[in-house]
Amino acid sequence: MSRILVTGAAGFLGSFLCDRLLAEGHEVIGMDNRVSGQTENLDAAFEHDRFSFYEHDVTEFIHVSGELDAVLHLASLASPVFYRDYPIKTLKVGALGTHKTLGLAKEKDATYLFTSTSEVYGDPEVNPQPESYRGNVDPYGPRSCYDESKRYGESLVRAYRDEHDLDVRVARIFNTYGPRMRLDDGRVIPNFMRQALTGEELTIYGDGEQTRSFCYVSDMIDGLVALLESDVQEPVNIGNPDERTINELAEIVLEVTGGESGFTYEELPPQDPQVRWPDITKAREELGWGPDVGLRDGLEQSVEYFEMQLEADI
Ligand code: NAD
Ligand code: UDP
Repeated sequence: MSRILVTGAAGFLGSFLCDRLLAEGHEVIGMDNRVSGQTENLDAAFEHDRFSFYEHDVTEFIHVSGELDAVLHLASLASPVFYRDYPIKTLKVGALGTHKTLGLAKEKDATYLFTSTSEVYGDPEVNPQPESYRGNVDPYGPRSCYDESKRYGESLVRAYRDEHDLDVRVARIFNTYGPRMRLDDGRVIPNFMRQALTGEELTIYGDGEQTRSFCYVSDMIDGLVALLESDVQEPVNIGNPDERTINELAEIVLEVTGGESGFTYEELPPQDPQVRWPDITKAREELGWGPDVGLRDGLEQSVEYFEMQLEADI
């Protein structure tokens, strides 16, 4: 059994990761300041006496007593809507929060896992994106608070590896979806689900021909655990390489929800990436990992959760 700290534990991925680590018999310490997370996501985790939770802002000094085997840093604002509203908090958690959690991992001699993002590739000029692609990010652009904080975070992780010999992992996560996303998260799948289930038109930004590649949450958690358990110290793309246009996604959401509301086209947010598609050769070869859940299946598995959220909202 290991003793593992998960930051961003009350969020979407963090809470599933806590559940998974607890199911594997580990002791898990969850940490979150609940800026966007919800403690209901941790209801299952709280059932375990091997779970504890601390409400704490990871941009401030972190004190954890006792030993730690791993520090998994997931805390961040992760939705474009949230990071547009809170760019300073976003920069701080990617920069200061990564620094504090790295310092803690160094102090405890723990393995460190950083959840980076496909956004380090910005609006990519190559498609699909391999890890060797260096990206196309505007440092003064509207998404830079997120993109640059994650790029800086990767650099800081690299520095702790080189200067302090810290055992590090870097996951470049591509769009992931599933239960426990907030209805008001603002990312495309919660938006489309909410709209389809309430009979509103689905808001497609731009002409809807931009692409994303959507990974179901259980596949993502398997990938993150495989990375943690590996000895790969270089960044690894984790995502589903099934590239879709947003128009296609909207059609499928209407089909799986039985929605009949149709679509409406709205202005594309500035610098919205035109394509995104992970090259996961490295994850397949070095982690033996690849996704299993197709888009339609994953959406079908998510509908009930979004329906329940809507009922609870009324
Ligand atoms: P999420 O918003 O559901 O969860 C993030 C959690 O971090 C929230 O609970 C929030 O309250 C917490 N948090 C934010 N700032 C904090 C701070 N200063 N101190 C403590 N807690 C703080 O997001 P998610 O989708 O679960 O994403 C988890 C991680 O994965 C993030 O680092 C995100 O950047 C990365 N990621 C996610 C995706 C995706 O599609 N879900 C894609 C790329 C990268
Ligand atoms: N999008 C959309 N309608 C919405 C929300 C998002 O068409 O209601 C588009 C958005 O412009 C982007 C894609 O869906 O092209 C994915 O957006 P999301 O916010 O989920 O995350 P991103 O991949 O941009 O980080």
